Order: sequence, then structure tokens, then C-alpha cells
Amino acid sequence: MTKFSDLNLNPKVMKAITEAGYESPTPIQAGAIPSALEGRDVLGIAQTGTGKTASFTLPMLSLLARGRARARMPRSLVLCPTRELAAQVAENFDTYSKHLKLTKALLIGGVSFKEQELIIDKGVDVLIATPGRLLDHFERGKLILSDVKVMVVDEADRMLDMGFIPDIERIFGLTPFTRQTLFFSATMAPEIERITNTFLSNPERVEVARQATASETIEQNVVMFKASRRDREGSEKRRVLRALLDAEGDKCTNAVIFCNRKTDVDICAKSLKKYGYDAAPIHGDLDQSQRTKTLDAFRGGELRLLVASDVAARGLDVPSVSHVFNFDVPGHAEDYVHRIGRTGRAGREGKAITICSPRDEKQFEAVEALIQKEIPRIENPVKVEPRKPRKPKEEAPKAEAKPEVQEAAAEPRKAPAQGGRDDTRGRSNSNTRGRGRGRYDRRNDNQVVGMGDHMPSFIALSFEERRSQ
Ligand code: AMP
Repeated sequence: MTKFSDLNLNPKVMKAITEAGYESPTPIQAGAIPSALEGRDVLGIAQTGTGKTASFTLPMLSLLARGRARARMPRSLVLCPTRELAAQVAENFDTYSKHLKLTKALLIGGVSFKEQELIIDKGVDVLIATPGRLLDHFERGKLILSDVKVMVVDEADRMLDMGFIPDIERIFGLTPFTRQTLFFSATMAPEIERITNTFLSNPERVEVARQATASETIEQNVVMFKASRRDREGSEKRRVLRALLDAEGDKCTNAVIFCNRKTDVDICAKSLKKYGYDAAPIHGDLDQSQRTKTLDAFRGGELRLLVASDVAARGLDVPSVSHVFNFDVPGHAEDYVHRIGRTGRAGREGKAITICSPRDEKQFEAVEALIQKEIPRIENPVKVEPRKPRKPKEEAPKAEAKPEVQEAAAEPRKAPAQGGRDDTRGRSNSNTRGRGRGRYDRRNDNQVVGMGDHMPSFIALSFEERRSQ
């Protein structure tokens, strides 16, 4: 097995690796680092959780250890699809470069231009950026890319999903032709293949096993769930989620819950909070300070449940996430692999549970086909009561209406709400008095016919009683 000491890394970088507690390089590191140190282009086909960040950070730091950056001319560039991922890459740089005197800047949305410009003005060795923000700075004339010696594209497949490929092509064109390129992607879609053929020069191709097949430490399950009614799907699904969380109990120390849509991320987090669970949402529409706060709380163990969209949780590097829940089956099968990769990291055990409704079954089949494995079904922990068949109206027997009326009459009466509500009640009383009172008078037994099972309870109350209150 390769050892870090075989890799020829800078001694100060080696020191930081030892302090990080790493014993040996992961396969992507063992494959990519030697070629990167020789100055060759690298095409790494690997996902998060494989140690890919260090596979480009470590050789870059070793290469940059000598030399100095000039004002506005970064010596290296790392492009990431999301702010979160960029921030995590920056943290990795801090960890591994702590014994070196190198400077870095992080160019991401949500941070003021002025602040970022001041740092770039002084000259940086490593510039970590999202493509849009980088081009914004470039267009303001505050950044010169002609001294970039090493350029990294991280998570290129995600860039493709997010529509960043034209930006990436443009940035490639702004850097010197002689630069070294380290290019990473989890999958090789045709468009990615095209980019690598155009911009990489005779790269060393390093491919590591898919995480889902490699990581046998993740226990996977699926609940096949069918809502009792279409319009109840959301609420019943959230109930299933709560039941799954309860069933896992203390074993679930923390979890990422994935939803396909941002609106569901919000609704789900809100609903969990309402039911007393410690949960917070994260997705692209929340402002940066909010997202950072939530991620920090989750990383620090102060937040138990992170409800997330795929993009926001991308690259989320929390080593000890015990569970992943897929509130929806992801639209792309590869996302399933990314999602469950949030747990079971670095050889730890993890559990991933997916909720699959009938309309997602096709997509779920695609997931199983991708990971070449059948995911064990578990029972829906919530027993959804079959709906009672509706009785034809004319058959609604008087005797059936009675218990509900009695139950309603026995219900504690609520105090009238403050403010304008009393007025409303007064109005509706006078309204109903005209129409409804005769009905009560005639029957004189609190019985109401013609409203089926849906009689609102207040109708069952005696008006005489209410007046005497
Ligand atoms: P990444 O694939 O870059 O997201 O890294 C996944 C996790 O593995 C991170 O928490 C890293 O700190 C950790 N890691 C990276 N390289 C190693 C290594 N050689 N040994 C142990 N853990 C590592």
C-alpha cells in the first residue's frame, strides 16, 4: 500500500497531514498526487467522501510552496460549483497549509466585493471561487488570470447541472495555455468528456470506485409509501418521516434530510420544528449568512437535523453524520449516491432511508440499477387507515349523526378570541339565528340532518346555552 511518505510531498505539508491524523493516502490521492506533482494534468473521476479534495490540495500546496504571488495575479485557481463547497475547499487549504506561508482568497457570492478586492490586491497564492463571482471580479478589472499556474475544476458534473459550463470554458480561455489542470467529476457525461478533451492535455486519468458500491458501511432501506389521498401526500409523508426518525431514536445522532424542491425543504423543516424536532433548512434561496450559520451549527453538533436540497448540501463535509433520509427519491440517480455519501464517511457506519411514493418508483428503479443492488424494503412505520367508504347522502342515518353531536357538545368550549373575533361571532350568530334557530326549535334534540360526517362542531351547540353563558 502507498504511504504518504512515498508521494514526495513538501515536508511542511507532510507535517500537516500527520497532524490531521491521516495514516495513508486514499486511492484517489495515491493515483492523482504523483502525476500532479510532476506537473501533469489530472482527470479524477471521484466523488466527495473519497478524499478528492486533498488529492488536489496537497500537490498544489507543494508546488506553490516556492514563489510569491503578485498583486491581482493569483498563482492558482480552484473553481467550485457552490459557495458551500468553495468554503470547504478553503478550509482544507487552511488545514494543510498551516505550516506554509501562503495566502488565499475565497470569491463567493454573499460576501462584499470590496473586502474580496482588498485581499486580491495584495496578491494571493490560491484563489478559490464560484465561476459567476470570479467572472464578476474579472469584468470589474480587478483580477488578472494570466499568472495562473494550476487550475482546478472541482465537481464538474455539478457545474454542468447548474449551467456553469460556458463560464468554465470562458475561464479556461482567460488562463495561460501552459497552465496545469486538475479536473474532477463524479461522472463523465458527454459534455464533460468534451470539455476535458478540449482543455486538458494528455491527462493522467484516475478513476476510483463509486462510493455507493465501495462504502459497504452504509445500511440502505426504502419505505414504499402511498398516500391515502393525493392532496394529503405531503402531510402523510412528513408523518412517515417523523415515524422513521422516532424509530431510529438515539441511534440517529444527526441527519441530513434531502428534499427535491426548495419549497419542500422549507415546509419539511418548519413541520419538524413544529413537532419538536431540532431541524433547520438549507437551500440556495437562503442568504449566505443564514446558510453559514446553519451549516456551522450542524457541523458543531448543535443542530440535529439538516433539511437540505441537493445543491446546498453538495460537498457538505461533516465526518460523522449518522443518518441520511431521502424525503423524495432524487431526480438523478447519481444524486442518490451523493446524498447517501453524507453518511458512512471515512469508514464509519451510516444509515440511509428513502421514502418512495408510487410516482417515484421508476426513478427508484434507476437508482437500484445504478448502484447494482436491491435496496431492502422496510415497512411503513405509519399505518395509514384506509378511508371509510362514503355513504350515499340519503342513507345518512340520524343515529350516526348523534355520537358526533354529543362528542362536539362535550368538547370544552374555547374562550372567544381577543380583538375583532367577538364581532364576527356576533354577526354570525345573528345570521344563523334567523335560519338555523327554527331548525333547532323544531327538533329540540340537538340533532342535525343533511350535513353528513362534516358537520362543524359549533353547529351542534345549543343557542340557548350559548346565550346563557
Ligand atoms: P473529500 O472526498 O475531499 O470530501 O474528503 C472526505 C473526508 O475524508 C474529509 O473529511 C477528509 O478530511 C477525509 N480525508 C481525506 N483524506 C484522508 C486520508 N488520507 N485519510 C483519512 N481521511 C481523509
